Amino acid sequence: MASSTNKTPRIGFVSLGCPKATTDSERIVTRLASEGYEITGTCDDADLVVVNTCGFIDAAIEQSLDAIGDALAENGKVIVTGCLGARADVVLAAHPRVLEVTGPHADGEALAAVHRHCPKPHDPFVDLVPPQGVRLTPPHYAYLKISEGCNHDCTFCIIPSLRGPLESRPIHEVMREAETLVEAGVREILVISQDTSAYGLDIGYRTGFWNGRPLKTRLLELAKALGELGVWIRLHYLYPYPSVDAIVELMAEGRILPYLDAPLQHASPRILRAMRRPADAEDALARIRRWREICPDITIRSTFITGFPGETEEDFQHLLRFLEEARLDRVGAFAYSPVDGAAANALPDAVPEEVRADRRERLLDLQEDISTQCLEARIGREMTVLVDEIDAEEGAIARSPGDAPEIDGIVLIADDEGLEVGDFVRVRIVDCDVHDLYAERVDSDKEEVPI
Ligand code: SF4
Repeated sequence: MASSTNKTPRIGFVSLGCPKATTDSERIVTRLASEGYEITGTCDDADLVVVNTCGFIDAAIEQSLDAIGDALAENGKVIVTGCLGARADVVLAAHPRVLEVTGPHADGEALAAVHRHCPKPHDPFVDLVPPQGVRLTPPHYAYLKISEGCNHDCTFCIIPSLRGPLESRPIHEVMREAETLVEAGVREILVISQDTSAYGLDIGYRTGFWNGRPLKTRLLELAKALGELGVWIRLHYLYPYPSVDAIVELMAEGRILPYLDAPLQHASPRILRAMRRPADAEDALARIRRWREICPDITIRSTFITGFPGETEEDFQHLLRFLEEARLDRVGAFAYSPVDGAAANALPDAVPEEVRADRRERLLDLQEDISTQCLEARIGREMTVLVDEIDAEEGAIARSPGDAPEIDGIVLIADDEGLEVGDFVRVRIVDCDVHDLYAERVDSDKEEVPI
């Protein structure tokens, strides 16, 4: 078992899963740091390890169990929290030496467990914690979680049973956090939740006050207010509801990034019904056309599941035809994976595993051409990009308004002279490959106005 020689208790923190889980981790890590704990990304030199797990699909559960096993082997004192924590029986069956298991959205319980096994230092270093909290993302971008939980009941998903129904954060609280992030130097805010378009529905779009101004707790008002902060605002996880058109108008006006991440999951009406998805494909296609009319520069990203129970070759062909028509810029695809506790497990006509995987490959093959054509259409255009990294060999690695960190492509700029991480810079796109763009600088000055 490892033990720190430093008097300050040291917590090893392992954060797995989606950006929503990352924001949970950030809240816990911030509280621990404010209490005087030292946070480390390693296990062997820590006094205790916290593993924030993901339990969305079987592969994520496996990854979480492996991470817990590694932490136990390297350290020995391990607390488990997060989505998989809702299923303590699974965690403890695999790893009986785990000290405690707490569920998702239970920061207080996770902190209490840390206090029990690694007591708080006597002299809290409150002043050492920055006002924006401790972030696990690079200093120039940050996730902003606006709500927790979900009111839908998609049959392949157990998130509502893990995280509960929709619970929106009051708008003034979200705006205050966003301002603090910008004051700390964040240049891009990524808005996340399980269902971003539903923001405020659960609290009747209650009015809050920001800088003395009344603001409804609703996505349109939030996006407008965030757009006043002078940084990039990127929205994730929207559903193709008619109300999103007004958000796309803000994109056309340059107030927020022209980027929409709308997970559609399928296009066959039969499969969408079996999935109990909130929108149908005809509507989705009409919405996508409308969004492009309003904002021709919009980048649309989506994700799809292949081989859902009952999916026939005809359903799958329907999905491929949809992709040909929709011409989405970025697409992620997952072969269906049954999750313990999901209603879809009881559906008839399971698709064999190799067919699920084969359809995923076929979908990605088709989409690769479409995505490449979308990137080729950007060659010759000028745009502002945000520098993420300076690489000694490749130059500046940046992102365009159409690229979210970690999931989309990058923009490579060979001439990185004078550039630093977090700079906005004006470039012209000169080439592309399947995922990424290559650019040259249009002028050597850095940009103050980001879009
Ligand atoms: S919308 Fe569906 S897939 Fe997304 S979190 Fe809610 S239930 Fe799960």
